Amino acid sequence: MSMILIVEDENSIGEIVELNLTLAQHSVTRVTTAEEALQIINSGMRFDVAILDIMLPGMDGIQLCGEIRRTDSQIGIIMLSAKSQERDKVVSLSTGADDYITKPFGVQELIARVESLLRRVKREAAPVAEEDIIHSGPFTLDLKSRILYKNKQMIDLTSVEFSIMELFFKNAETAMVREKILQGVWGENYYGDVKIVDVNIRRLRIKIEEDPSNPQHIVTVWGYGYRWTV
Ligand code: CA
Repeated sequence: MSMILIVEDENSIGEIVELNLTLAQHSVTRVTTAEEALQIINSGMRFDVAILDIMLPGMDGIQLCGEIRRTDSQIGIIMLSAKSQERDKVVSLSTGADDYITKPFGVQELIARVESLLRRVKREAAPVAEEDIIHSGPFTLDLKSRILYKNKQMIDLTSVEFSIMELFFKNAETAMVREKILQGVWGENYYGDVKIVDVNIRRLRIKIEEDPSNPQHIVTVWGYGYRWTV
């Protein structure tokens, strides 16, 4: 059973999401403010996935996302945003969200996104039997502990960022279209936008490149996608 946190001040939406996730056999905790969510998390409760509405009374969902991500790089985070908040999507992804969904949304679509994120979070928790370490230039990827090192220095990555790096390492020097990255990381049944790949790449470049505006490792292949090179 997976632990899911919902932070949504609109009760009609919160209730239907909670109901459907509960029917799908998940353990759901639902609160209506970011402050309550932080209180629960600070009390030591751990979640596999958090669904955060952006517009909340008090602290907003974007700030909350940053707070959660600061202490938990493994949790999957999905943001809920209104149509008029396009900018917020990009901002929230840059604070560490893994996915976003625009209101109004079909509850089945949200559930599918949650399941997809959960598969990734779980896969990461499962033990890896062999070939646990992949080297690539100054980088080392430890698949068992899911840690990336650059020149023996640990680099803090989210689950999604780690999965992208794993895909890159296993396909070094190969140009990959964004759709392939999306499928490889978010899963075959992902309905989201390829833009989410770009946002994660931008974040990864900040973390691993000497000069993120002139990347030497995650190279843009114009009109195609990205290539990992050392
Ligand atoms: Ca709201």
